[in-house]
Amino acid sequence: MDCFDVVIVGAGPGGLAAARQLSKAGFKVLLLEKERSFAANDFSSGGAPLEILSDFQLPEQVVGAYCCKIRISATQDSHVWQDDQPVAVVLDFKKLRIFLAEEAIQNGASLFFGCAYRSYRRENSALVVNFKKAGDDVLLSVRAKVLIDATGSDRRVLGEGLKTDGSSASDVIVGRGIEYLVEVPEAVYQTYANCLSFFIGSKWMPQGYAWIFPMSANLLKIGVGRNFPNTQFVPHHRAMKDYLDQLIIECLKTEEIKIIDRHGKTISYTCHHQDPYVDQNIIAIGDAVSTVNPLTFEGIRHALKSGEIAARQVQEFLEKKIPDLKPYAREMRRYCGMRWLVSELLTQKIYREPEDEKMTLMLHALKTLSLSALKDLVFYYRFKIAMKFYAKYQILLLKRVFSFSPQDPKLRS
Ligand SMILES: Cc1cc2nc3c(=O)[nH]c(=O)nc-3n(C[C@H](O)[C@H](O)[C@H](O)COP(=O)(O)OP(=O)(O)OC[C@H]3O[C@@H](n4cnc5c(N)ncnc54)[C@H](O)[C@@H]3O)c2cc1C
Repeated sequence: MDCFDVVIVGAGPGGLAAARQLSKAGFKVLLLEKERSFAANDFSSGGAPLEILSDFQLPEQVVGAYCCKIRISATQDSHVWQDDQPVAVVLDFKKLRIFLAEEAIQNGASLFFGCAYRSYRRENSALVVNFKKAGDDVLLSVRAKVLIDATGSDRRVLGEGLKTDGSSASDVIVGRGIEYLVEVPEAVYQTYANCLSFFIGSKWMPQGYAWIFPMSANLLKIGVGRNFPNTQFVPHHRAMKDYLDQLIIECLKTEEIKIIDRHGKTISYTCHHQDPYVDQNIIAIGDAVSTVNPLTFEGIRHALKSGEIAARQVQEFLEKKIPDLKPYAREMRRYCGMRWLVSELLTQKIYREPEDEKMTLMLHALKTLSLSALKDLVFYYRFKIAMKFYAKYQILLLKRVFSFSPQDPKLRS
């Protein structure tokens, strides 16, 4: 049986970031990935603030497009925030994972595609990790000093048994996103080039939002995402695909489009940092411990960060500088901390709002923010900006109430 210092299950951004760092530090690392290639689950839109490149030493080759603008459209209004320098990027999710995997492999890590983790058992201080190769029923095993659960929302190792389908647990937020990669004529591409475009309100996607992001030349990522699929706070009777098709018809305004790829995924988020982070020499990272932000469902940056934090703690543990991996859980709670709790609160407010008119008022409240304040809100979830936005929104709501006559049915309702 092969022995490894660290076995990482899942080659998403989180697992790859941990593998990259641990292999660089000289540890013997094995990555197990159930899919046969990175093309098989190329599901993520890849929107992120520009800083992701410098924060995680990522090269230009993983960038699909740079964006100087952010546009938010509600049913009755639209606003663009703009800078002359890029403020955000759209990453090519497949190229990002290929880049991180190649670095880890160059550092000596092994990556087994088509290998699905099944179980583990403890043998003294080590772990025996069992997995199966796709199309083969034989159970294979490797030995590890540390096991990392980087299986994303599947939470296959540490979170096994957690109820995260949103059907009963009130403190789980479930989000589903579906997206097309479409080839469009140059003129249509230019309308959306250089810009992260978001669409809010139940016309575009009840209990969620829609988006159009540029990729490389003449390719757009166009998608819709919805929260709480099992609990309807906002009526929606149509399938998510209908909203996606509507977005294509109303925004692209052309039949000259070619759908290159269709993908989607359901992600679940456990509120109040309740996921198990550590169990002796097993540790969970990325979406397996709800690093995805519940407000925006941006998760790549945070999965990368948790992978790096985990790698540092695992290194210290293997070098016997710390007795256990508990500091990892503390550091992760500090990293997400208040900002994720504020995002949870805003999520409850925004995605449960059934009235499109109120979503337009939210846009009016957002308009009062500068581009850097907007970035602070949507990418950094800053408490102060969130409160400023929410206070503005409440004032606009009050103004709306006082502008109605007492006979107005809207006021009475
Ligand atoms: C439609 C959509 C759009 C999104 N857009 C954005 C965006 O614009 N910006 C952003 O930052 N985030 C976005 N996200 C979220 C982001 O992609 C995730 O938060 C991020 O990928 C999480 O990284 P991870 O490594 O924790 O998990 P994942 O990326 O989910 O990786 C987990 C890996 O584990 C593997 N795995 C699972 N089970 C097993 C098993 N039993 N054995 C072996 N391998 C296993 C999976 O195949 C997968 O490769 C989006 C998500 C969706 C669904």
